[in-house]
Amino acid sequence: MKFNEALKEIKIYEAGKPIELVVREFGIEPKDVVKLASNENPKGCSPKVSEAIAQNAHKAFLYPDDSMHELKSALASKFEVQSDNIIIGAGSDQVLEFVARALLMPNDKVLMSQVTFAMYEIYAKQMGAKIIRTASYEHKVEEFISAYNEHKPKIVYLCTPNNPTGDATSKEDVLKIIEAIDEETLVVLDGAYMEYAAAKDEAYRIEPKDIMAYANVIYLGTFSKAYGLGGMRVGYGIANTNLISQLYKMRPPFNITTLSLVSAIEALKDENFVADSIALHQEEIQRYEAFAKEHNFSYIESYTNFITYLFDENFDSTKISDALLKQGVIIRNLASYKMNAVRITIGTKEQNDRLFEVMKEVLNA
Ligand SMILES: *Cc1c(COP(=O)(O)O)cnc(C)c1O
Repeated sequence: MKFNEALKEIKIYEAGKPIELVVREFGIEPKDVVKLASNENPKGCSPKVSEAIAQNAHKAFLYPDDSMHELKSALASKFEVQSDNIIIGAGSDQVLEFVARALLMPNDKVLMSQVTFAMYEIYAKQMGAKIIRTASYEHKVEEFISAYNEHKPKIVYLCTPNNPTGDATSKEDVLKIIEAIDEETLVVLDGAYMEYAAAKDEAYRIEPKDIMAYANVIYLGTFSKAYGLGGMRVGYGIANTNLISQLYKMRPPFNITTLSLVSAIEALKDENFVADSIALHQEEIQRYEAFAKEHNFSYIESYTNFITYLFDENFDSTKISDALLKQGVIIRNLASYKMNAVRITIGTKEQNDRLFEVMKEVLNA
């Protein structure tokens, strides 16, 4: 059997390790596993969402409303856009996939930062596209503009705040990059963690309406992070109607589930839950900064719900993550991104206490 040549270039995406793996491999009780590897909301989801799922469970046999009218209207009024500016995906991941399939032909180029969300590369490579990266993990305006001018990529990916580094790009800088790019190139502005950045510093808040004047920019958001719905798989893309109607050609019918739709609609009604989640996060992340200082390693200032610890030659990120894993604490090793660093999702107070306890032992060993 001869597979699509493009597959040769693709490394399978390595997802954060599930709780079940630690239970199986190390015999740790599920309740003792602390999972801080996938940037889930440690508070879970809004209790109103759980209630709505229970109340609607009997509808599991029904296909969802494929127009997704209610969810799109709620998002439209939240973001001050129109419903036909919105496409819903099974996670914003699926919107990234629609974008790649709608635009890329073999040997087209795409541009992204040195270290960023791994799925941009995977979806682009599936289409046979070539990956161009800037020199820095930060989204530096000059680097993006000069790489854009040199390579004329078909898509430019801007991830702010950036995953897995946690840094963000100011609205001013993002707009400078967008302004330098002509309409032949699509700019994907991935705001998966925007709720956290916007709460931390207004200069980093970018809303879909800020990019609506540009025909070649799409804003992506997700319910997986601040809204605590990673398991329901709901994300969205917001752009002008021409772009959205092209992406609709890539969308399979009923691409999110009946209960995912219920969850996302309900989640938008409980913005207090999101505000409380962010407040908890802002308090707890300070302990992570203090922990790094106390143990003499550095970290990247975070605009997200995780922190990236950077180690020098005294510590090895793979050894540290493996040692933590054996004790039931799951974090994300960034060695595969060629960084001696780890990414840790900020958990609840109790989870963070446990992480600090185990990590202290590991660092002193
Ligand atoms: C989590 C994440 C997404 C999308 O997640 P979904 O669960 O597919 O919505 C997109 N971009 C970045 C940078 C992320 O971290």
